[in-house]
Amino acid sequence: MTTNNGQSANGQVNSEQKPVENVIIIGSGPAGFTAGLYAARANLSPLLITGNDYGGQVSITYDIENYPGFPESLSGPELVEKFKAQAEKFGTRVEFDFVSEIVVDRHPFVVRTESGAEYLTRTIIVSTGARPRYLEVPGEKLLTGKGVSYCATCDGFFFRGKDVLVVGGGDSATEEALFLTRYASRVRILHRRDKLRASKILQDRVFGNEKIEMVWNTVVAEVVGESGAVSGVKTQNTVTGEEGFLATDGVFIFIGHLPNNDLFPGKLEMDEDGHLITDRKLRTNVPGIFAAGEIQDKVFKQVATSVGQGCAAAMSVTRFLEELETGHSVDWRADPREFDAPRAAVLA
Ligand SMILES: Cc1cc2nc3c(=O)[nH]c(=O)nc-3n(C[C@H](O)[C@H](O)[C@H](O)COP(=O)(O)OP(=O)(O)OC[C@H]3O[C@@H](n4cnc5c(N)ncnc54)[C@H](O)[C@@H]3O)c2cc1C
Repeated sequence: MTTNNGQSANGQVNSEQKPVENVIIIGSGPAGFTAGLYAARANLSPLLITGNDYGGQVSITYDIENYPGFPESLSGPELVEKFKAQAEKFGTRVEFDFVSEIVVDRHPFVVRTESGAEYLTRTIIVSTGARPRYLEVPGEKLLTGKGVSYCATCDGFFFRGKDVLVVGGGDSATEEALFLTRYASRVRILHRRDKLRASKILQDRVFGNEKIEMVWNTVVAEVVGESGAVSGVKTQNTVTGEEGFLATDGVFIFIGHLPNNDLFPGKLEMDEDGHLITDRKLRTNVPGIFAAGEIQDKVFKQVATSVGQGCAAAMSVTRFLEELETGHSVDWRADPREFDAPRAAVLA
C-alpha cells in the first residue's frame, strides 16, 4: 500500500497535492506505540504524533511490576524507550509534535499540529489517553511513586501490612479502597463531605469492611515525606477549618480521571465522562477513526490493557484499509453501542 496516492482534500488542503497517510496515530503512550508497531508490521508506514507528554502516563511511573515479560520490573521511562524502539524498528515514523485540530467531516481526514504541519490521512487511531485529577497540594508531585499513587491495581502490592489513605468519595475511591484491603492493614477514606457519592452497594461494602475507616469532612492540605517516602498528610476540616496530621505509609488519590479529549467535541461521540465511545473493534462513530487506551477505556486503565487495545485498533485499521482498497463496502455501524446490545440483553 502506498503512502502517497496523490489524492487531495477540500478547502485549505486542496491547493497542493499532498501525500495521504494510511494512518496517523495520535499519542505516544502504550496504546499509541503498540498501534504503531502493529500498523508498521502491516506495511502501513504509520505516522505517530507524540503529544507533549512523550510516553504518556508510563513515563511518570517509577516502577512497573505488572507488565508481562519483565519479571525484574522496569522503570516507566525504560519501558517507553522499548515501546518506541520496537515500533520504529518496523517503520513507525515518530514526530514530536502536538495535534491541535482534526477535521473529520471530509475524507481523507486532516490532522493539524501545533508546529504548523498539516497532514491528510485515510485513518486515525486516537490514543490521547487520560490523566488522573491531581490534588495539587505541596508534596504530591514529589512523592508520586514514593507513596503517592493513583492506581491501587498497580501499587497496592507494595503496601502489604501497611497503613494507607484513600482520597475521594465516588465509585473509584470506594472500589479501590476495597481492593486495597487485600494488602493494607488499615485503609482510611478521606472525604471532603459527610457522605459518599459512591453507589449504595459500594457504600454498604465499605461500611461493612472492618479494615476501612471513614474520615469525614476532611481534605489533604499537604503530603509529607521522610527519607524520600510518604510519612503522612496534613489535613484540614472542611466544616471547622481545624488543621490536623494523619501518619500513613501511602496516599491513594481517586478524585477523577480526565480523558484528553479537547480535540473531539462536536466531532467524535463521547460518553457523559468525556471518553470516546468505541465498539469492540475500537471503532468510533466516524468511519476510519479508531480509538485505543484510556481515551476510550475508563474501566481497566492499565499498561497491558492499553497495549491490547492499541494492537486491536491497528488490526481494525488494517482491515478497514483493505476493504477501502479492494472497493468492498465498509461495514460501519452508525451507532457502535449497538454492538453491546445483545450482550446487555443476555445479562439483563
Ligand atoms: C502515576 C501512575 C502510575 C501508573 N502505574 C501503572 C502500573 O504500574 N501498571 C500499569 O499497568 N498501569 C499503570 N498506570 C496506568 C497506565 O500508565 C495507563 O493505563 C496507560 O499509560 C494508558 O495508556 P494510553 O496509551 O491510553 O495513554 P497515556 O499513557 O495517557 O498516553 C497518552 C498520550 O497521548 C498524548 N496526547 C494527548 N493529547 C494529544 C494531542 N492533542 N496530540 C498528540 N498527542 C497527544 C500524550 O502526550 C501521551 O503521549 C499508571 C498511571 C499513573 C498516572
